[in-house]
Amino acid sequence: MKMKTLLATASAVIAFAAGAYAEGTVGIAMPTKSSARWIADGNSMVEQFQAAGYETDLQYAEDDIPNQLAQIENMITKGVNVLVIAAIDGTTLSNALDNAAAAGIKVIAYDRLIRDSGSVDYYATFDNFKVGVQQASSLVAGLKERFPDVKPWNVELFGGSPDDNNAFFFYDGAMSVLQPMIDSGEIVIGSGQVGMDKVGTLRWDPATAQARMENLLSANYTDKQVQGVLSPYDGLSIGILSAVKGVGYGSGDMKMPIVTGQDAEVPSVKSMIAGEQYSTVFKDTRELAKVTVGMVDAMLKGGEPEINDTKTYDNGVKVVPSYLLEPVSVDGTNWEKILIESGYYTADQVK
Ligand code: BGC
Repeated sequence: MKMKTLLATASAVIAFAAGAYAEGTVGIAMPTKSSARWIADGNSMVEQFQAAGYETDLQYAEDDIPNQLAQIENMITKGVNVLVIAAIDGTTLSNALDNAAAAGIKVIAYDRLIRDSGSVDYYATFDNFKVGVQQASSLVAGLKERFPDVKPWNVELFGGSPDDNNAFFFYDGAMSVLQPMIDSGEIVIGSGQVGMDKVGTLRWDPATAQARMENLLSANYTDKQVQGVLSPYDGLSIGILSAVKGVGYGSGDMKMPIVTGQDAEVPSVKSMIAGEQYSTVFKDTRELAKVTVGMVDAMLKGGEPEINDTKTYDNGVKVVPSYLLEPVSVDGTNWEKILIESGYYTADQVK
């Protein structure tokens, strides 16, 4: 037996003997390690569940739908007590979750709503509509600040993955701010591409966003400039920024467009500090983990989990009782306070 395995086995035996995991086992299915936020979510949950006396089985599926389904089915077979799932595709888990319910396993949709299933007990997330409102509000603030004399502002829109329910909430929230300005002529969508069916980005893939931005620039911006890009996620923002820098924005008389984001991932925080990405939305994954652990603990001990929304998240079969946390808009003026002083990152991490 290898030393590592030996140590792991030994510590598991000690933990078991000490009754450290007396409360049950939580299967945690996360979408991918390709984005740092999900790694932070997984780590916070493992830490907090273990501190509360639970054993955890944490799995990442690298954005592969059958892979995630297999991981969840495996957790059900192993007999976990609860499943906490951030789905890759929110519509493909119905059968597995029915099996979970039949086996008495509770299910929490984590961050992303699981659709088309009656077997989802609770939903822990952020106010997703508000995320979109914050993104668009920051975009508009940036346009006013960097381009006070440009009328109208040329803007392009990006949406998240169409199989992620959140993507529609982000988009709708953003459009609640932008549509009136499009209607009044203050903002022009240079390409004319509007609506999630045209601006969505499958699997939130940065390379897809970069390629689309390159196409938008060559097709629509040879004789004018783009001043703003609504981006719903930091990974996409980095791709979009590569595309605009590639054709000369950020130097000479081509000012960098205002580009938004989400998740406050390290490369984007660095980009903000360097004056490239304009803003992001911080969602404290430590807090989301805390809400989730509280829900699980209450459910397994026969109590009522704390919820603060019973209207918004209809998954097609039921309105899933939810707890919504507050997202925080972050830009060059407040990143230190929100991200460093809160202890989410150290100053060295974003240097
Ligand atoms: C999450 C966002 C994240 C996106 C891409 C969404 O479901 O709510 O925080 O940026 O997925 O991973």
